[in-house]
Amino acid sequence: MEVVTAIEELRRRIREVKAGGASIGFVPTMGFLHQGHLSLMERARRENDFLVISIFVNPLQFGRGEDLDRYPRDREGDLAKARKVGCDLVFFPEEKTLYPPGFTTYVQVEGLSSVLCGVSRPTHFRGVATVVNKLFNLVQPDRAYFGQKDAQQAILIKRMVADLNMNLEVVVCPTVREEDGLAMSSRNNYLTPQERRAAPVLYRALKAGEELIAGGERSPRAVVRRMEEVIAGEPLVKKVDYLVVVDAENLQEKDPLEGSLLLAGAVYIGKARLIDNIIVNLA
Ligand code: AMP
Repeated sequence: MEVVTAIEELRRRIREVKAGGASIGFVPTMGFLHQGHLSLMERARRENDFLVISIFVNPLQFGRGEDLDRYPRDREGDLAKARKVGCDLVFFPEEKTLYPPGFTTYVQVEGLSSVLCGVSRPTHFRGVATVVNKLFNLVQPDRAYFGQKDAQQAILIKRMVADLNMNLEVVVCPTVREEDGLAMSSRNNYLTPQERRAAPVLYRALKAGEELIAGGERSPRAVVRRMEEVIAGEPLVKKVDYLVVVDAENLQEKDPLEGSLLLAGAVYIGKARLIDNIIVNLA
């Protein structure tokens, strides 16, 4: 497995791989790899000849006062895991490599960036779209893999790829969970043992909303109220950022509920802001 930090070397290797006719699968990450990340890599490994992952904690997608400085990192552990799933190349750039002095170009996916997580994190998705665009330009993948765990991100990347005529396929993979339902996340590392035990409440709230819909409820307000009740039962939730049920494609509100729905939430437990979502399809 190659570990590459410089853009010129990455470009040279990608040129060689492409000249040999190999397909390229790509998994962008911020590292501190867990089974959620690895599931994307395993799928990308199966579906492509050459597997590239990137590990880069992208400062552009963190707001002021967010957790950029304490975001967990584990270079050696990550490289060992990447090697084990059969990655061919890990792109591990430094900040100044991707954002040299004078950098001033950003990608804004309008509308989709300003709802759900975009309300409390107004510059987050601009940072995501910009870095993913840069990484796509560098890696030139045939397929790129993203997790359903970050549903809004996956929708937004698909939109960007379509709108900017990028020549690649976006593959969205299921959320990998712990046994008690908590979605795996590098940010779960912030939780104390007691907070960790409380954290599955978000998934339970989403499932309670799903159950209500399965029972025939079609009012989004009633579904949100049900999810809020479940969250309210867990005193370790410091604050609810949002709990919503929206159209799974455009993230807009829908009343009455119909079609493909995204139940999504973000809550603060201890030092962690946790997000999760499920999709419910009504025939
Ligand atoms: P991150 O390192 O948090 O930027 O995540 C890198 C990629 O892994 C993104 O496409 C995430 O959606 C995906 N991912 C993170 N956690 C999970 C999970 N629990 N299940 C599936 N995919 C995940």
